[in-house]
Amino acid sequence: MKYFSEETRKKMSDAAKRRCNATWRKQQSEARATKIDTELVRNMYNAGMSQTEIAKVLGTTQKVIHKHMKNHNIPTRPASKRNQFGTKNHMWKDKSASIKAFHKRVEKRFGKAKDYGCSICGKTDEDAWYDWANLSGNYYDINDYAPMCRSCHRKYDVGRKNGGNNLPCAYDVLKRIADFVESEENAEFKTD
Ligand SMILES: [Zn+2]
Repeated sequence: MKYFSEETRKKMSDAAKRRCNATWRKQQSEARATKIDTELVRNMYNAGMSQTEIAKVLGTTQKVIHKHMKNHNIPTRPASKRNQFGTKNHMWKDKSASIKAFHKRVEKRFGKAKDYGCSICGKTDEDAWYDWANLSGNYYDINDYAPMCRSCHRKYDVGRKNGGNNLPCAYDVLKRIADFVESEENAEFKTD
């Protein structure tokens, strides 16, 4: 039989008492749960991506996405058998084309990202590349974008994938965009 000292036994007993607390258990389960951006999942799913494809993007499994959607009442459609070669590629092309189209819409509305400079690091260097980075996965919403240099854009996307929240950095520029929208509120926005 294993021998524990008086001190160790007391520590074990205290730890066990802590585990009996509902708040402690909830905290532990939340800490272990994969952090998933519900709106991002919803948008990707509504854009036609499968749970497996979403899982790949978020670095998790289909099972986790399935459970997350169920817990957040995201309506699912029946799983469809897909041709791994033709249909799948075709669908992926449609999706990336529509995401590109959303970025184009943003550019049409607000101008080039380059004109604003980077909303994260403040870079305005003429030679750098700038993108309209989508902030929270609402690709359909032209206000869900901020101008970023290529390097900050990559870091932002990685941070978002890991559940990080980089939004506060972009608030300053978002405010400028909001002001711009207000000043042009009567200008009709046309899609192509
Ligand atoms: Zn930057």
